[in-house]
Amino acid sequence: MTKETFTFQAEVGKLLDIVAHSLYSHKEIFLRELISNASDACDKLRYEALTNADLGSGDAEYAISITSDKKGKMLTISDNGIGMNRDDLAATLGTIARSGTQAFMDQITAAKEKKKEKGGVDLIGQFGVGFYSAFMVSDTVEVITHKAGEATAYKWVSDGRGEFTIEEATRDGFGTDVILHVKKEEKEFLEANRIEQIVKTYSDHIGIPINLMPMKKDEEQRTLNAASALWTREKKDITPEQYKEFYHHVAHAFDDPWMTLHNRVEGVMAYTNLLYIPSSPPFDLFNPDRKSSVKLYVKKIFITDNCDGLLPAYLRFVKGVVDSEDLPLNISREMLQDNPALGKIRKALIKRIFTELGKKAEKSPEEYATFWDSFGAVLKEGLYEDTDNREKIFELVRFKSTYSDGQISLKEYTARMKEGQDAIYYITGEDAEQIALSPQLEGFKKKGVEVLLLADPVDEFWITAIGLYDDKMFKSATRGGADLEKVVEADSDKKDDKKDDKKSSNIDPLVAAFKVALGEKIKDVRVSERLTDSAVCLVADEGDMDIHLERLLKQHKQLEESTPRVLELNPDHILIKNLNKMASKSEGIEASVEDAAWLLLDQARIVEGEKVADPVAFAKRLASVMERGLTS
Ligand code: ADP
Ligand code: MG
Repeated sequence: MTKETFTFQAEVGKLLDIVAHSLYSHKEIFLRELISNASDACDKLRYEALTNADLGSGDAEYAISITSDKKGKMLTISDNGIGMNRDDLAATLGTIARSGTQAFMDQITAAKEKKKEKGGVDLIGQFGVGFYSAFMVSDTVEVITHKAGEATAYKWVSDGRGEFTIEEATRDGFGTDVILHVKKEEKEFLEANRIEQIVKTYSDHIGIPINLMPMKKDEEQRTLNAASALWTREKKDITPEQYKEFYHHVAHAFDDPWMTLHNRVEGVMAYTNLLYIPSSPPFDLFNPDRKSSVKLYVKKIFITDNCDGLLPAYLRFVKGVVDSEDLPLNISREMLQDNPALGKIRKALIKRIFTELGKKAEKSPEEYATFWDSFGAVLKEGLYEDTDNREKIFELVRFKSTYSDGQISLKEYTARMKEGQDAIYYITGEDAEQIALSPQLEGFKKKGVEVLLLADPVDEFWITAIGLYDDKMFKSATRGGADLEKVVEADSDKKDDKKDDKKSSNIDPLVAAFKVALGEKIKDVRVSERLTDSAVCLVADEGDMDIHLERLLKQHKQLEESTPRVLELNPDHILIKNLNKMASKSEGIEASVEDAAWLLLDQARIVEGEKVADPVAFAKRLASVMERGLTS
């Protein structure tokens, strides 16, 4: 085979540019990234070797070695792991493995802009570029690699400027050498002391030995790390930094862990968990595959990082490792799903995560609020997916509401329900601040009835699926039958006023006129109990689909037809009162009452965020009404 030349995927080209030219802080993390990859590669081969003896023995001496050649200005990181073939090289080192998406690039560019403003934002810390960080310190990077079980070794070379080549090569044994041709100005990374310090800082948690090869004649090779898997060590022997670095490695993440759960469980089941909840949401949190990414080990041997049985999809933001003593080593990944021991571990893990989250929510509500902002929308999926744990999840769920700017729990909500209020009221929409201003909420505010503001798409699904909390119905504030008249108003004097008002404003003639004018376009016209300031609003009839849910389904092409809505009129609004006078006087429907009916309907639609059905007719009516107003 001759040498082939490839160009990087477009985003990689841009990324390499950013890496090479804009990131000057923490260059040393290139070594952590390469060691992390080498360790992953050894984990993978050890697993393969369990079922295929040709690939090596299960207890082969997996190790990572670092060789520094000061004269030749070369730093080599070698492993005896799984290796890569030609296609692996082209695919994995030619694309951004974690998230080769435009969104990722946009974020990194945005962060770069920010960096210019503020200075000192640690880009790598936020995003991480894995293998490519090698180009921060190298003119050229060579990868010589031999995939386990295959015939040919390959060499990959790039100067990180947009192209790379792949050709056949030779290598002793399976595994990978990453050879950095270190830039002149970065020669500190060839010094033994510097290398040792970096490894101790960032990679001490790696479970296999990281050996520094002798640099002088009668030197011995030295192991730089503790070389025992972090989760197997005693809690008291682990520093917060080591926990954090292990999180970076195991989660392929670059933020700080928000919560760390390290437990050894012995007894009926024996396992160790070292789980993390990130402090910021990863880019793929809402990927359709909803994969959980906790790594499963059996007796310290890596089995899979793709085990659905370990944690439910709604806890996919949890990262880390579970090491079980009870699963058979030779279990195939396919068989895992049905293993009863795994089911028990899963149950226990869920319980532990809920308990710890509950404690945090109680002890430090502010910290919990940031967690909730990042992952609440995911956790809420559990409300309809995991009926067994629904009550537990309800305790952890937080809401924005009309009561305060902060987050509230359902317990708090029900504790301050008004006398006569028998339902938990909510309103859904795209943006909590926006929906808080909805006209449908005016009457609720007046009576001091709190309304939950639900702005995550998932809310539409659990709330329609569940219906009850603590024997109280969830009721949409934008629906008919809101039953507000039963709620006792805080100030009972006001209540009497209201009654008088109601008597004085009979708008039956207008209601009848509007019904005739709008015909089929509307399900009904009714006198509103919930409006105090606005003239009109739209609500869904009881039993009909919520307006926001309908819009959501239409956006996703799940629905075509629109359900006609109920138009509610505020009998105390001056405009409605005057229109009512006009409607009472005349026999048929006056043109201006008809125009008003259509204009008010369109206005209510606009407030809902809906489109005006017929913009031309709307504009004509608006013009003619204004004309009459100006000329009379
Ligand atoms: P990540 O580690 O987050 O997947 P990297 O950019 O660090 O991203 O690495 C990209 C991919 O290249 C890895 O997922 C792996 O498939 C492959 N790779 C990198 N280094 C090695 C290695 N030493 N041995 C085998 N495969 C490797
Ligand atoms: Mg990596």
